[in-house]
Amino acid sequence: MIKRFAVMGHPVAHSLSPIIHQQFAKQCGIDLVYDKIDVELHQLGATVDAFFAEGGVGLNITLPFKEQAFALADQPSARCLKAKAANVLWMKKNRLYADNTDGEGLVSDLQQHINLKDKHVLILGAGGATRGIIEPLLASDLKQLTLTNRNLARALELQQEFAQLHCVALDDLGDHYDVVIHATSAGVNQEQMIWPEPILSAASLAYDLSYDRSKPTAFMRWVNQQGKPAIDGLGMLVQQAAFAFQIWHGVLPETKGLVQQLRQ
Ligand code: NDP
Repeated sequence: MIKRFAVMGHPVAHSLSPIIHQQFAKQCGIDLVYDKIDVELHQLGATVDAFFAEGGVGLNITLPFKEQAFALADQPSARCLKAKAANVLWMKKNRLYADNTDGEGLVSDLQQHINLKDKHVLILGAGGATRGIIEPLLASDLKQLTLTNRNLARALELQQEFAQLHCVALDDLGDHYDVVIHATSAGVNQEQMIWPEPILSAASLAYDLSYDRSKPTAFMRWVNQQGKPAIDGLGMLVQQAAFAFQIWHGVLPETKGLVQQLRQ
């Protein structure tokens, strides 16, 4: 029987995960189907249960469900437990396993653009994606990792979980960050966001976790308007998908050239 996979989120129409996983499967000679499932808020548990009950093999989880997905898991990996957020689920012997490949995906893509050693990195946003990227960034020899969020309480909660994390209110942001990572869902939800301009003063790179394969994201345009370089999260998306594919199929697919291919 053909193996069934899917990505669950809300919204999920924009997701490129089906195309990426089909490309990996073709490369590795594996037959699979990979769907997008738009899940009603509060329906994640029931939808995940139904997917696996019907023989589904693996799920990717995207916004806004990564923290809820972690809460459903019987067997989270160590890094998933640390993040308290999951982007990969699979069922084995009737137990729901969970992992988080977002951080590994981000760091491996970022390292292709910048050496993170001794850099002061600022993260904008404290949602499920941020939970996954904190620990791998902290393990990258940074000088400092600072976090801010619209809802400060959510960022402070993360500061309590990650002792090395430095948390500041939006109004108290400085002008001394080497790398600025945008990790809010404002762009995906087509909402306006206003960040203090000085945060880019010392930055040599800005990275947007969001992506748009045909044009720069709103955050990238804002960064570029200030004469600074910005890249989107398409590379991270491909990398985190490759690590998820490895978990499910036991083989790490080649990712070279796929980002370019997706943009065409
Ligand atoms: P969540 O829904 O878990 O969190 C959303 C975050 O965005 C919160 O910090 C929220 O702040 C903030 N936010 C939402 N709207 C605004 C706004 N208008 N102004 C300021 N802050 C806002 O989403 P995720 O963390 O799962 O995802 C975040 C983004 O990262 C998404 O765009 C997603 O597509 C992208 N992503 C990309 C990946 C990739 O591989 N490239 C992987 C994972 C995520 P508050 O707490 O105040 O509500």
